[in-house]
This record gives sequence, C-alpha cells and structure tokens, in this order.
Amino acid sequence: MDIPLLDLQAQYVAIREKVRAAVDEVLESQRFILGTHVAALELEVAKFCGVPHAVAVASGTDALLLALKALDVGPGDSVVTVPFTFFATAGAIVNVGARPLFVDIDDNTFNMDPERLAQFLARDCTSNLTTHKLVHSESNTTIKAILPVHLYGQCADMDGILQNAQRYRLPVVEDACQAIGATYGDRCAGTMGAFGCFSFFPSKNLGGAGDGGMIVTSSGELAAHVRLLHTHGAKPKYYHSIVGFNSRLDEIQAAILRVKLGYLAEWNRARRHNAESYEEELRSAGLLNCVRTPATVAGRTHIFHQYVVRCQKRDELQVFLKSKGIGTEIYYPLSLHEQECFRYLGYGPGDMPCSRAAAQEVLALPVYPELTRDRISYVVSAITEFYRQQS
Ligand SMILES: *Cc1c(COP(=O)(O)O)cnc(C)c1O
Repeated sequence: MDIPLLDLQAQYVAIREKVRAAVDEVLESQRFILGTHVAALELEVAKFCGVPHAVAVASGTDALLLALKALDVGPGDSVVTVPFTFFATAGAIVNVGARPLFVDIDDNTFNMDPERLAQFLARDCTSNLTTHKLVHSESNTTIKAILPVHLYGQCADMDGILQNAQRYRLPVVEDACQAIGATYGDRCAGTMGAFGCFSFFPSKNLGGAGDGGMIVTSSGELAAHVRLLHTHGAKPKYYHSIVGFNSRLDEIQAAILRVKLGYLAEWNRARRHNAESYEEELRSAGLLNCVRTPATVAGRTHIFHQYVVRCQKRDELQVFLKSKGIGTEIYYPLSLHEQECFRYLGYGPGDMPCSRAAAQEVLALPVYPELTRDRISYVVSAITEFYRQQS
C-alpha cells in the first residue's frame, strides 16, 4: 500500500468539475484582481467564522505581517509568541522590524501556555508608569502584542491568554493558519483576538491552487486599515496616506476557494473521524505506551490539520513507515529559539524545554479527509510491527 501524508489528488477528483468551471468563469471575465469572487469569499469566510470583517491577502504569512503592521508594531517593539510553530509566525514579527519573544508551550497541547505567559510578563517585563508601556527588561523593547498559534488545528487556551492580554492591555493576533473551522466554546479560531490570520496554502485544511490568506477581525476600523495596507495604502487610487504593500488574493484563487469552502465543514469532520479511528486502533493495539496520541481539550473542536503523535524512537519509526509506503512528516524538527537566524535573540537550547522535547518526538501521520479506515489500520499495524521489532 502507498499512503501519502496528504492526498490532494483524491480531493481534486471529487470536485474537479466545479473547480474547472470556477476557473473558467474567471478566465472568461478577464478580471483577475479584486473582483467579485474575492469580495464574495471575504463575506463567506466572515460568515463561516462568525465575524463581521474579512480581508483576503496573498498568503498566511502576509496575513500575520499586515495584522502586525495594522497594530503599529515596528522597530523597538516586540511580540510575544511560541517557538514551536511554523517559521512564518516569528518571521512576520522580524519582517515588521520587531523582536520575537518566546514563551514555552504547554506539553500536552503544543500551544502557548498561559501560565508561562503570565510569568514572563510579570517577571521579565516592567510597566513604565508614565508611558503605560510594557517593556521587556533584557532587550528594552516595548511589547506590542501577543501572538498565539492554534497548532495542528486545535485552539490555544484563549481564556488564559486573553486574561493576560487584558491585564496588560495588549492586543492578541491569532495565528489560525492551521485552524480554520476549529472552535473554542462557541467561538471560532481567529475571532477572539484583535485579528485572526488564515492561510490557504495548498496543504492547509482549506487550500487554494497556490498561495493565499485571509485576515478576520471584529473591528471595522482595523479591517479598513488592513484593506488600505494591502493595496499600497492607496485610497482613492494613486493617493497614498500610508506606505503599504501589494498583498491581495488572486481572483482565480478566490473562485477556487469558494468552491472548496462549501466542503470545509465536511472535510474537517472527516479528519476528526479519522483521528478517532487512530485513537481506537492505537489503543486496542496496546501502543499508547510507545505512542502518545493528541490531547484534545473539552470544549474545543480540533480540526486535525495534522494528526501528530509523540513517539519513542521517532526517527527510526519514520524510516520504517516510509519503507512500508506510509508518508509522515516532522512538524517541526527544530524549535525556533534554536534556529541559526535567531541566534541574536540569545536563547540557549534548554530555555524552552517543552518545545525542544516536542521537536524531538513529534510525528504527523496521514489524516486527510479521504483516508479510509483500512488505510488507518494499515498504518497502525505497521507501527505495531515497528515496536514489536524493538522489544
Ligand atoms: C502555513 C502557516 C503559516 C503561513 O502561511 P503561508 O500561507 O504559507 O504563508 C503561518 N503560520 C502557521 C502556523 C502555518 O501553519
């Protein structure tokens, strides 16, 4: 059997006619930038998430970048985030001229730990009573925002994070790039902070035929600012009040994403179902002492962008599964606080022990919506075989 980590072909054959018709319509119209599909997709994503405003941009990375820009984050500032995430989370902070400050993750959920966040803000920062600014003592930068990530498709502990944010009057930007459709109580990922950022990278739960992203917000004012930023700060055309970017979603992408958005809830359900099947099969195979399955938190809907287990002999297991035709991936093999490009931040390898341990143990197994039960059984029997050989 050959089981890829993600099978986009299987998805495409099921929706081919609709996708082709959508692309054709755009080609016939010859309207490629900021047309009716982009406007409609913005409304549809806003409705899907239950938030009043959405602005489509060129990628998830740009969504983060423009959100930070709109909050006036720049040189001399810093943003608190996690080191166990896709690079873009911290990359966006640096690219607006600011400094990323890391707090370690919760060992169970892989997401920002609000207790550690509280400790960090209390111990490592000082409030300037005259300017009302919160300053990171060591780097002497002003903390401008908190940037949690909803990793693998499950929301971070937003109540705990928002409590800290309110206490210090800091805006929260949610990196929801892996979590479109995930819920936290009765709220959707991306709608709880000042901004939520989504990615339509092809391998995401809602993926386009190329790059794309979306920013959502409850604030009309912030939405207008992002909209200004994404077309060079021009309003009206050729009159620039601020210097912005060229970061728009293409009309062709929007047309395709509108087709796919109609299936997203169903696809997310299928991923959840597959995760339950893994949990059942790994448990009945007696593997839970070698393989730790994802912790799902009550009251949060995990959409399993990735189904990530923590395992003993991770690298050997990955090689073995590959020999059985099973695709896996390590998200992510090196915590950001240990990356070469962030050496100047001055972190030591042991400073973020949970992120470091996660990077050494995590393995993503195939969980895509079209995955069948017999394929899940095949993956689990291969894992069983591997650990039997080890003992
Ligand atoms: C994919 C992703 C991004 C960046 O999205 P792009 O659309 O690839 O730019 C940012 N953060 C996280 C957590 C992601 O998974």
